[in-house]
Amino acid sequence: MTDVAVVGAGPNGLAAAVTLARAGLSVRLFEAADSIGGGTRTAELTLPGFRHDVCAAVHPMALASPFFKAFELSRRIELLVPEVSYGHPLDGGRAGIAYRDLERTVEGLGADGRAWQALMKPLLRRLDGVVDFTQGSLLRLPQDPLAVLEYGVRTLAQGTPAWNMGFKEDVAPAMLTGVAAHAIGRLPSLSASGAGMLLGVLAHASGWPVPRGGSQAIAQAMADDLLTHGGQIEVSHRVVSVAGLKNATGARAVICDVTPRALATMASDVLPTRYIRQLESFKYGAGVCKVDFALSGPVPWTAPELRNAPTLHLGGTRRAIAFAENEVLAGRHPENPYVLAVQAGVIDDSRAPAGQHTFWAYTHVPAGSTRDCTEDIIRSVEKYAPGFKDLILASTTLTAQDVGNYNANYIGGDISSGAVTMAQLLKRPVISPDPWRTPAEGLYLGSASTPPGPAVHGMAGWLAAKSALKNTFGLPAPDLGL
Ligand SMILES: Cc1cc2nc3c(=O)[nH]c(=O)nc-3n(C[C@H](O)[C@H](O)[C@H](O)COP(=O)(O)OP(=O)(O)OC[C@H]3O[C@@H](n4cnc5c(N)ncnc54)[C@H](O)[C@@H]3O)c2cc1C
Repeated sequence: MTDVAVVGAGPNGLAAAVTLARAGLSVRLFEAADSIGGGTRTAELTLPGFRHDVCAAVHPMALASPFFKAFELSRRIELLVPEVSYGHPLDGGRAGIAYRDLERTVEGLGADGRAWQALMKPLLRRLDGVVDFTQGSLLRLPQDPLAVLEYGVRTLAQGTPAWNMGFKEDVAPAMLTGVAAHAIGRLPSLSASGAGMLLGVLAHASGWPVPRGGSQAIAQAMADDLLTHGGQIEVSHRVVSVAGLKNATGARAVICDVTPRALATMASDVLPTRYIRQLESFKYGAGVCKVDFALSGPVPWTAPELRNAPTLHLGGTRRAIAFAENEVLAGRHPENPYVLAVQAGVIDDSRAPAGQHTFWAYTHVPAGSTRDCTEDIIRSVEKYAPGFKDLILASTTLTAQDVGNYNANYIGGDISSGAVTMAQLLKRPVISPDPWRTPAEGLYLGSASTPPGPAVHGMAGWLAAKSALKNTFGLPAPDLGL
């Protein structure tokens, strides 16, 4: 007898399954792919001994997510927290460096140091309130209204065309834009600025860690806990019908780590037409083209500080990045694209044979693009690290269309499982204080298409599971610690 069936073993599906199993329920988790993890898989994509993160590589939420805190992730796996959260190369061998230490960052920013401090310090002081506000439905009373005010003011300041006000030079604005561009949206915009402010302050708080050995460690920690608490995992099992799944398993509740589009198809016979229309009106965003490189040595960045930065934002000045991102939204491939790159080897020597490195990079492209951006990415890196090309031993590429084929949740290569716009931060995928609960009895949606949205935090799954515990089983949320 199964109490709950969970569809999809991404971080959110795993978080839901863990929570429900810990509450004493019998849980079966079904995953379409032949391995668990969703966006947190690690594999030898290029050469033997080179371990690449297939999707997510850097985890600003690993130490900050309330779910991961409750789950005590940091006691289960080794999270390597770098001194440099991210680096941003600029022309003339210059670079902006976001140290985890705010004061050190401020010192490095010269004339704009004070502006940086004014932006980050109040958020740092009220970090718990900022995380509480951003990591759930925005439609609820915040724990710390002052934190919301501080966060809202800064999101507004950095989310409108007046975003340069208060800055004298180009380094700090470029750094802020590089972080905001993670949201893959219009620049400037409130949604990108909101994401940027959260990621930006975390860079000076718990940092931007990478798990030793790769992101798969995060999924494995959750799977291990699930199995310990009696859960079962079935891989290579694509669920096509919620009603069929309920019949086959006898489950009273089904939690889906899928997109609204998939849910509308899988549950068309149990959901009301009006709700299905809302699911179908959910919009998907631009895609990514992802390239993994095996390198014979470390990247020879011209700016030496970049050699210690696991995460890098390439694309130049604020203006240049905004132009490139807006080109993508207009359906074009920019000539000088924004590139998000990760050199995990600067902090984790387990990713490649001694002295050698993995290099992870993606660039934003129009939805469904089939363009191979390998050469665009090499050109972008060469600009700031001449000689990079000569280090390449092998590479492998996923176009946006490949990304969509790899994981059904990334429609057209949209790694956010739904465009990150202001409207879709409120309506993800419906406007409700409990958007994880569907109108069908015992059916819940708990993927990145629900609040708090994309990234590896497990929050959407945790919140969906808590809703199921309350509404279907009348049970309290369990303790998740070790
Ligand atoms: C290239 C790339 C880079 C990224 N980089 C980062 C990063 O550095 N840091 C970060 O925090 N985030 C990053 N992300 C985003 C992050 O990976 C996602 O936001 C996160 O994985 C979403 O978790 P999820 O559980 O909602 O969905 P997913 O991780 O996408 O998992 C969904 C799972 O459900 C399965 N599934 C779907 N439909 C069915 C079905 N019908 N039956 C059975 N199984 C099904 C899928 O196969 C998949 O395994 C990146 C994503 C990509 C693709």
